[in-house]
Amino acid sequence: MSFDLETFLSFIQMYAKRLEELQEVLNILDNRIGDGDHGTNMVRGFNFAVRQLHEQPPSDLGSACNTVAMALLAHVGGASGPLYGTVFMKLAGIFQQQTEVDKVTWIKAMEAAKAGIVQRGKAEFGDKTMLDVWEPAVAYLLGAHSGTQHETHSEIQSESQREEACEEWVQEVEVAVLATRDRIAKKGRAAYLGPRSQGTCDPGSVSSGLFFELLSYVYNGGGELIPWETRVL
Ligand code: ADP
Ligand code: MG
Repeated sequence: MSFDLETFLSFIQMYAKRLEELQEVLNILDNRIGDGDHGTNMVRGFNFAVRQLHEQPPSDLGSACNTVAMALLAHVGGASGPLYGTVFMKLAGIFQQQTEVDKVTWIKAMEAAKAGIVQRGKAEFGDKTMLDVWEPAVAYLLGAHSGTQHETHSEIQSESQREEACEEWVQEVEVAVLATRDRIAKKGRAAYLGPRSQGTCDPGSVSSGLFFELLSYVYNGGGELIPWETRVL
């Protein structure tokens, strides 16, 4: 597996497009347990990032991630701006000057991004934040990779095996998103509600679920998309 600049650029475009489609869903969730702006925040930030990438085409993955990070830090208010901004800053740190990275580097970058969320937000798994999705999503990658040593040796992984692994990953991600519904928020605005935050999926977890779903989508060159609106509302 390798991940290149072109794949990254399609990912950002697809993510911005899907965020726009799900903007209202994210706002509704945030309205129930926060201030109702998560969809608006994410759409503003990622649309700005897409425009920046278009106006100043990046030469490598590192600078592409930096552009996205800067766009999010400058144009997304609220908690999610600095958190997703940190994600892309950390990815940029690992992807520096590379136009293509292998699976090991890509997983390392996802791990660094997750560590950045922890560092910045100080949340723990189970606090009903986006970390509730990042934690198992990255753990799956680490586990799956150590379990496929033979694949690295033989360099053989059939297309169907790859699709199957991605499908399983996205399924786990979806389960992680839906598991936030019954939790009591311990961090972020929703924490002010205490037990009243139960019964609503965490909006940042939904946007993170979408993030991983689309990474898998662009990597596989397509696939079925989860009808999030029917699952999380
Ligand atoms: P705000 O809460 O400032 O209005 P958003 O609505 O855009 O910002 O984003 C809210 C999301 O941010 C939450 O759903 C949650 O997933 C995430 N979040 C909030 N605080 C933290 C934190 N300390 N650590 C990790 N994620 C957090
Ligand atoms: Mg909000």
